[in-house]
Amino acid sequence: MEIANPSNTKDILSKHNLQLKKSLGQNFLIDNNILNKIVETAELTEDDTVIEIGPGIGSLTQKMAETGAKVIAIELDNRLIPVLKESLNVYNNIEIVHGDALDVDFSELVDGSFKLVANLPYYITTPIIMRLLEEGFDVEKIVVMIQKEVGERMVASPGGKDYGVLSIGVQYHSNPEIAFVVPPTVFIPQPKVESVVMDLKVKEEQNLEVLDEEFFFKVVKSAFHQRRKTIRNSLSKAPYLNLNRDLIDQALEEVGIDPRRRAEKLSIETFAQLSNALFNLTGGE
Ligand code: SAM
Repeated sequence: MEIANPSNTKDILSKHNLQLKKSLGQNFLIDNNILNKIVETAELTEDDTVIEIGPGIGSLTQKMAETGAKVIAIELDNRLIPVLKESLNVYNNIEIVHGDALDVDFSELVDGSFKLVANLPYYITTPIIMRLLEEGFDVEKIVVMIQKEVGERMVASPGGKDYGVLSIGVQYHSNPEIAFVVPPTVFIPQPKVESVVMDLKVKEEQNLEVLDEEFFFKVVKSAFHQRRKTIRNSLSKAPYLNLNRDLIDQALEEVGIDPRRRAEKLSIETFAQLSNALFNLTGGE
């Protein structure tokens, strides 16, 4: 049964008397072409286990199951669980889990590595992606539909307004790419903004030399806290660190950073060197 088309999606929703909830980010995909492109980007094979966040009525879930991959779909809205069970009951490689993707322990659901593929509810885009990247889950690839503006920040390079804590957080853990842009017209209801499908290839090994990861991210967050300020000023007034100006000047000099530069001009590699220098000078205190 083809469930990703406008009339079928509307029929399923009205049959189950379902009003979509904006608060749960319920914008359902109704375009088969886009669903196929998401599955292609995920490069699924029957050896893969995929976790899907927010299957909705199961359009993407079904496409992914057809590749032979094992699909574990986590849905928060309890009204959708019987709908999913009914529409997907012909597949024996789909497991439906009722839960909140922000709390679920993914490692309890999967034995070994997995891919994460989802048309994400946009209100949890950043927390869910950062949770997957930071909490050490065995995730090899993340293919997600998100707001275009957030995707642009993830892939941004130093120098522009999009570059910031999110760019560094995502690029520290993965090699992110915008796979393709998606217009609002392929959803019911249509969102106000354009979307993109992101392809984040999670790094198997860290290629940056960082002495202390937690300290590194405190330095990055502090540096961008007031992004119009110079790196020297933002580090000295940062809420996440307690550094005196002499130490900051010493570290900046050691690494060869002009104290008048702004955080948005510094590459991840430079941030790594700076945080290592500060860590050595302060002992991470
Ligand atoms: N996958 C479907 C599609 O592409 O048509 C639906 C995508 S819709 C953008 C997001 C889905 O995520 C909704 O079904 C919503 O109920 C669900 N959702 C929202 N918050 C969630 C959470 N915290 N954990 C799991 N699912 C959630």
